[in-house]
Amino acid sequence: MKFNPADKIQDLQYFGEFGGVNPSISDSSTYTFLSAKTMFDTFEGNADGCYLYSRHSSPSNLYLGEALAAMEGTETANVSASGMGAITPVLMQLCGAGDHIVSSRTIYGGTYAFLKNFTPRFGVETSFVDITKLEIVEAAITKNTKVLYCESVSNPLLEVADIAGLSKLAKKHNLTLVVDNTFSPLSISPIKLGADIVCHSLTKFINGSSDTVGGVVCASQEFINDLRNVNSGASMLLGSTMDSLRASSILKNLRTLHIRMKQHSFNASFLAEKFEKDGLKTVYPGLQSHPSHNLFKSMMNTEYGFGGMLTIDVGSLEKANELMELMQHKNLGYLAVSLGFYKTLFSAPGSSTSSEIPEKEQKEMGLSDGLIRFSIGLDAHIERTYQMMKTCMKEVGVL
Ligand code: PLP
Repeated sequence: MKFNPADKIQDLQYFGEFGGVNPSISDSSTYTFLSAKTMFDTFEGNADGCYLYSRHSSPSNLYLGEALAAMEGTETANVSASGMGAITPVLMQLCGAGDHIVSSRTIYGGTYAFLKNFTPRFGVETSFVDITKLEIVEAAITKNTKVLYCESVSNPLLEVADIAGLSKLAKKHNLTLVVDNTFSPLSISPIKLGADIVCHSLTKFINGSSDTVGGVVCASQEFINDLRNVNSGASMLLGSTMDSLRASSILKNLRTLHIRMKQHSFNASFLAEKFEKDGLKTVYPGLQSHPSHNLFKSMMNTEYGFGGMLTIDVGSLEKANELMELMQHKNLGYLAVSLGFYKTLFSAPGSSTSSEIPEKEQKEMGLSDGLIRFSIGLDAHIERTYQMMKTCMKEVGVL
């Protein structure tokens, strides 16, 4: 039977201490040992099932990690306090002074800033490329390149990475392909397409209630052990650990991700088609007009759709701001960064989530001032939402 990531989550059963239907929360930062020898063995990583200290691992974090590993089809996973707390240790673990990364140029602004401004201080350089052109990606690879980095669906331009094609390049040049799958959980399964490591910001669709930040790295047991190594592991030593209470609440939300993703995708697809018909410059991977529509189709787990993210370009930042303020006033969504909430969220990425990217580079990659990024919510009647949005658009003169 075809791999279905939601079935993998559903098949996992965890019980609480007293037969609870949810696992017990491990409300402890440290753990006692009956013998000093077992404590030593645990420190050395040789005592399976024993916990030492919660920055290293905790039962609640392992439950969530295992569910996310099952979803992505990896041996295991490590959860972290934020998406950046997942991505940055992965790159620091894989690269040292003198190493080089080839990254998509359209990635989340924080990741871009990390690679552009922060890692050069440690002797790690990055070339930013148009990830949709495999020949340009390959031309950027040098003898020092260690990592190929991309987002399955990029923030904010919704470019789609050819993960199977990138994986071939990674294998040919002995590189590690790291994919941030934050925008397309369940819809795209990067490991099945040949990625080596998958990261998520759990803050977004996976948690889905905009009440916490969180992250995860899904990878082989060997790599996760490396990240957690008490002597040399970037996750262990940089210390971006998730709290057990949060891990437990995110796991409960993960249980409904498949239903939410279907509704996000249904609503976004409905609006994208209407907006495009109305003559708005609309980008959504589910539209025939999206340059990578067929590529997305060839990679996707069909029933979860093309995702909840779309963009429109209304020509200027002033118009974008006017429209977003009016839509918020009409309770159609919130003028807020982030994504994956039950309510529609909208922002102008050029002046918010991608503001770390210099203006000149924004222009080069096609990030225009009038771009509005929508994370479409779980609205019960999307036709009604559309009619109300259309009225707002007419009122500010973009339709
Ligand atoms: N990756 C993507 C695609 C994102 O959109 C974000 C945040 O917006 C992150 C990573 C960072 O996640 P966090 O804010 O949880 O650190």
